[in-house]
Amino acid sequence: MGADGQSKASRVVGSVGFERPTVPADDGGAGGSGAGLGVYDGVRCAMPFVIKFDCGEDEAARQAALAKVRDAADKVLDVCQETFSRFVHDSEISKFNALKAGDKHVMSPPMRAVVQLAALLVERSRGAFDPAVAPLLEHYQTASNLKQKRMLSRKHDSAEEVADDQRGAGGSAGAAAAEETKGEIVEAIERRTVQFWRALLDRGFGHQPGGKVSRAVDALREFSTWDCFEISEDGSTLTKLHDEAKLELNGIAKGWAIDELARVLVEEAGRRDVFVDWAGDIKVRGRNPVSGKPWTVAVVEPPTVRAVEDRVKALTTGKDAPQRNRAVVRVGLDFEPAPGEQKNYLALLELRDGAAVATSGDYEQVYAYNGRLFSHVLNPKTAMLQQLDDTALAQVTVVSSSCMVADALATAALATGDVRAGRAMLDPFRTGFREPISDFLLYAREGPRVVRLTVPGVESKQERRQRLADTEKAHVIVVGGGLAGMSAAIEAADAGASVTLLEKEPKTGGNSAKATSGINGWGTETQARLGVADEERLFERDTFRSGKGGHTSDSLVRTLSTKSASAVHWLKNRFGVPLTVLSQLGGHSAKRTHRAPPDEHGRPVPIGFLIMKTLRDVVETEYGGRITVLTEAPVTKLRHQTDQGGVKTVVGVTHSDKQGGSHDLDADAVVLTTGGFGCDQSDGGLLMKHRPDLKGTPTTNGAFASGDGVKMATALGANLIDMDKVQLHPTGFIDPKDPGNATKFLAPEAIRGSGAVLLNSKGERFVNELDLRSVVAAAIQDKCSPYEKGDYCGPPFAWCLMAKEAQELFGLPTLGFYKDRLGLFEDCATVADVAAFIGCDPDTLRATLDAYAAAKQRGVCVKTGKMVFPSALSSADTGLVLARVTPSVHYTMGGLDINAAGEVQELLPNRIVGGHRHIRRLFAAGEVTGGVHGNNRLGGNSLLECVVFGRIAGERAATIKHRNTACLLPEHGANDAWRAVTMREIRNTDETYGKNTREIRFNLHGSLQFSGLAVGQYVGVRGELDGETLMGFFSPITRPEDEGVLGILCRFDEKGGPIYRLLEFIRPGSVLHIKAMGGLKLNFRPEGIFYNERRIKRLGLLAGGTGIAPMIQIIREYLHRTDCQRNGINLLYAADQEGDLAFMKILEDLRDKHPDHFRFYAILNRPPLGWTEGVGFIKAKNIRSHIFFPPEDDQLIVMCGPPVFESIMCKTLQGLGFPETSYYSYAADTD
Ligand SMILES: Cc1cc2nc3c(=O)[nH]c(=O)nc-3n(C[C@H](O)[C@H](O)[C@H](O)COP(=O)(O)OP(=O)(O)OC[C@H]3O[C@@H](n4cnc5c(N)ncnc54)[C@H](O)[C@@H]3O)c2cc1C
Repeated sequence: MGADGQSKASRVVGSVGFERPTVPADDGGAGGSGAGLGVYDGVRCAMPFVIKFDCGEDEAARQAALAKVRDAADKVLDVCQETFSRFVHDSEISKFNALKAGDKHVMSPPMRAVVQLAALLVERSRGAFDPAVAPLLEHYQTASNLKQKRMLSRKHDSAEEVADDQRGAGGSAGAAAAEETKGEIVEAIERRTVQFWRALLDRGFGHQPGGKVSRAVDALREFSTWDCFEISEDGSTLTKLHDEAKLELNGIAKGWAIDELARVLVEEAGRRDVFVDWAGDIKVRGRNPVSGKPWTVAVVEPPTVRAVEDRVKALTTGKDAPQRNRAVVRVGLDFEPAPGEQKNYLALLELRDGAAVATSGDYEQVYAYNGRLFSHVLNPKTAMLQQLDDTALAQVTVVSSSCMVADALATAALATGDVRAGRAMLDPFRTGFREPISDFLLYAREGPRVVRLTVPGVESKQERRQRLADTEKAHVIVVGGGLAGMSAAIEAADAGASVTLLEKEPKTGGNSAKATSGINGWGTETQARLGVADEERLFERDTFRSGKGGHTSDSLVRTLSTKSASAVHWLKNRFGVPLTVLSQLGGHSAKRTHRAPPDEHGRPVPIGFLIMKTLRDVVETEYGGRITVLTEAPVTKLRHQTDQGGVKTVVGVTHSDKQGGSHDLDADAVVLTTGGFGCDQSDGGLLMKHRPDLKGTPTTNGAFASGDGVKMATALGANLIDMDKVQLHPTGFIDPKDPGNATKFLAPEAIRGSGAVLLNSKGERFVNELDLRSVVAAAIQDKCSPYEKGDYCGPPFAWCLMAKEAQELFGLPTLGFYKDRLGLFEDCATVADVAAFIGCDPDTLRATLDAYAAAKQRGVCVKTGKMVFPSALSSADTGLVLARVTPSVHYTMGGLDINAAGEVQELLPNRIVGGHRHIRRLFAAGEVTGGVHGNNRLGGNSLLECVVFGRIAGERAATIKHRNTACLLPEHGANDAWRAVTMREIRNTDETYGKNTREIRFNLHGSLQFSGLAVGQYVGVRGELDGETLMGFFSPITRPEDEGVLGILCRFDEKGGPIYRLLEFIRPGSVLHIKAMGGLKLNFRPEGIFYNERRIKRLGLLAGGTGIAPMIQIIREYLHRTDCQRNGINLLYAADQEGDLAFMKILEDLRDKHPDHFRFYAILNRPPLGWTEGVGFIKAKNIRSHIFFPPEDDQLIVMCGPPVFESIMCKTLQGLGFPETSYYSYAADTD
């Protein structure tokens, strides 16, 4: 067997096409390190364990290593038993369980670790995991069987004693004896547990009629929950709140022991490679020393219910049957297939260094009672036993870095009883948790349903390869070498493009290289390692809240959020940027801004500079020939062509060189990443145009931030958004040596965050230094004097004063950079020196500082409202430092309007719907764009935006040349092609489209590809969730000539059918399958509209409920034509209530714009008060007056809605004398 071990169960996706993996044959150690493999095994707490470890090849070295391993392991196993065994009467847990209510117990470190984790898991699993169910179980046991009661209270359980005796018999030497004793142990345990479960079942546990629990159980549930315990604030003491409350920590304690074993074997026994397996739960360190490959574990498929039944039969029938005549029969954990039966595997796991895997299965202890099979699994929420059946969840495997976590969550998920609930329980543990789940596998027998952890928004490497397979090599020009540009260039090259990056400065880097705070991401490895809980909804809420008052596009923010962790991991894991330190910046509800740790001298590492240097090096070393970087090559123009319909296509750029020469460069696609316009201060510049009030305001931006990309794209008609939203940073340093320099060094937020105070020229405080950036900036502008030096008179400024404590909190090495390297701070020995520098009255300054000290004491500053005082400051302080700061233009939120594929949008005010289309072959990302940050950017979101949208724009640009013009057309005439496509975006549509609807857009493989669908044709959308294949049919709401995209409108509630659950689950980047189906297939040719080769001039549309979707496409297409007829397209739209009417705003807009050509009439079954249109159902008279009558040859009536609606409509039309050829019913079309 090739695998290093077997876990009772974990890669497979969905039930469709699930193939059991084959476990590879042993490769005989090829590629290994040459080390040997030592083994120590035995039985503890009646469960077998195996420890494998690296050791020297010769026998002496092996024995020496074994001795060390045995010593270290035995200590841990002893502690485990003495702490957690409920069958050892003086164990810590037994003594604790015997305490009275109110008794405090000071926990040992192991128990503390287990209890603290248990508390966290109970809370986060909302009670699905609950180790407090012990009383419930014990009550049945003791109340119903005195003999058992006695057995429980015995000092040492006989089985445990036997097991103890065997401890020393590790390795192969004691194997025979161990085998023999194992049998006795199992027998003893068997006897006891069978009695126990029989008592339990006899009491009707969980089997009251109607699935209700008995009254006795109900009463006990009160004492069987985690609420019956209280942990002290410091986590050291545990108190029972009821006499009856007891803990059962066995599973999680076993996990603790496995984690601890792996730790001590490395740290104390000096092993490098370790594999610990205790009853199928496993933790590894290092690799398999023999093969040199990661340790592997094969996940075994659980036995079928039938196999268990057969096993029960074998145990109970026949005169030698070991459990003959027993009312309750137990099939043990050691279930092995019968001879001749094949052992199947569900997965083969490769375990990374430090990974743990645990499995819970319903077959571990099966109790056959009165012809039914019960699992030992107790659902803490219902207090019911799980019954074995084919559809229920039979096995759960969880992978995490902590075996404790894996074990507890596997059990908790199994107790939920079904695959969907189990997945819903486990999913939240993927992030925001110190030891997050890195994989899981849920198994139900029927199907079988095998569900592996799926991260929404992630496409596998193989899926990506397939998607890009028919892309031809394109030449992509990236304009600007900041983070957005570098990200776009790398991603485009990775997708197969040849890239030219043009940068106007002598070096790439841009403002990205100036960033100091870091890059945001939620759900990252760093957050997990530091135990930071963070979530999608918090990240998105924070971003929307901060952006209020500007445009924050739903779909751009969702994309930013979904891709944030992968952006951080891309920089960290792919390029090695150590984003391992976190901070919480203003406006964020969690620590999510990632930066690098200080260097070995404790000096800060400027994160933007590090990222940009790393990427520059990578491009130079790894991308030679694929990415060409030209510096001092400013792009001056986007070259383009305009077709007869006014559609613009970018065909290249014009750029200059350092000698002043001008060059035209052709491109298949251009990505603009030129950054913001924070330095475009000239008259007629963007800043003066959109924010003239900021004239003369300095900036933290480099001179290159002159909005070139915005200007070049505007010349092509690009739409701009939020151009007046400019972020001022309150504290740009004024350099006294060069006060007139428009570009300022940024005084980071952390200076005020450490307790620096701001003073005006009189030596008075005037603002809460920790208020929002905008508030502090406005206060300096309103309440401070201009900076004057010699002839120079600059904008208002404040003095920034830091006492020693604040300096230390901020970090002396960092302070040293600003003070000693840049000369931006003055040293002031005393407060009198500070007053002398400021030129203010020393007494005023002293009074200010004493008032501050008093406010700190009180906890609030009445004058400014400050309530957080990070450090102390008073007039008695010495060793102070002082700097001058002034509000500076920091970031421009506005810019080019892009969609979620990074395509630059053109403003077309006269368009019928939407008002936008993209400028062909033009993409943009980073600060040059708008729509992500709205009114105010959150710190750290900008670098994130650069990576996320830079990568998206780069890849979409690379797919510009595709071999096939139509993505969904069958390749070889067969109409059975399902295409794997990625979700581009999800748009909220409630206002415009109807209640509970959202628009989902998918990226076609090529960014200029068409769908290949005819007008009126619909698509099938298919995907997997929870092991089920979910499918739905939709009429696209995008038009056949829309490039690179396919949009559908979906209901996000039960009315949308089962697929809505999948659509709710997926995120931008998720893969679904789409196929062209049948439908109306109206042929819109230049010479006319044709249906079955009959020329159609007028269209009548009958829509019921969601059947409106194809009509929208038909109406838009019809009205788009120059030959559309007067009153040529009429719609009757019936729904139950007003909330069910979708697209109303669009329909009204269309009617307003085309009153002579389009009419529509809505009919409601349950109209609201104030309703003025039709009431009831569509009747013949409605068709007569609102569609066409009498029938004519050049008309076609199209109906779409629920089948019953369409069938009634067909009959009504027949009654009105419409021939069958004059109408089309989607429901009746079975092609
Ligand atoms: C001091 C400071 C600190 C910051 N700290 C943070 C932070 O900690 N976290 C965060 O998220 N954000 C921070 N920001 C904001 C963030 O750094 C920028 O918004 C972001 O990096 C912009 O990246 P970009 O790639 O869009 O543009 P940039 O990085 O500015 O790059 C644009 C590049 O395009 C070049 N270019 C411009 N015009 C042309 C042209 N015509 N032809 C060729 N090349 C051209 C420029 O020379 C430049 O190299 C900070 C900003 C500043 C100024």
